[in-house]
Amino acid sequence: MSFASLVRYSEAVTLALDTGNSHHALRLETAVALVNAVTGENCGGVPEHLTEAEVGRLAGLAVDLRAVIEAIAGGDHDAAAGVVNRLLVESEARPRLLRDGAGPWHLAFHDAEADVVRRWTAGFAVAFAAVLGDDSAQRLGCCAAPRCDRVFVDGSQGRTKRFCGVACQNRVKAAAYRRRGKVVEVS
Ligand SMILES: [Zn+2]
Repeated sequence: MSFASLVRYSEAVTLALDTGNSHHALRLETAVALVNAVTGENCGGVPEHLTEAEVGRLAGLAVDLRAVIEAIAGGDHDAAAGVVNRLLVESEARPRLLRDGAGPWHLAFHDAEADVVRRWTAGFAVAFAAVLGDDSAQRLGCCAAPRCDRVFVDGSQGRTKRFCGVACQNRVKAAAYRRRGKVVEVS
């Protein structure tokens, strides 16, 4: 997902969340998409409506989120909690009820004046804080394929996901198959 499409996607998610369907899992998916889009190898294209400063701050946020996910995946919850606590403070995240004009009240973690980066930071920080407090932290992981640095949320029933997607899974399977083939030839 390019940075530009990621931002469009994230704004749709933010809108969905802010219209009353608050769901931490959706925020985690968005956070993972942000990390992969901004700190991965395939990040191109910057959305026109964001300022250069906002893009820079989003990139910084993505680096922080990657640190959180990698720490969780590596079992270092203390390190993850340290970053999440800092993001909670920096974004001034706290629950409050907001409404858009005469629309319905909805739960938000940012104030009405917060800019896009602070809105995202507050939402992600709260989502990761919720995850660290229960066993769904195990759903966050880093792709096990060589030469891949993508992170993922494991939505599988048995929590057995090891790769970011089918492409990496197939690549690793094919390599293992080739290795086995070689062993057969040698022996
Ligand atoms: Zn991968």
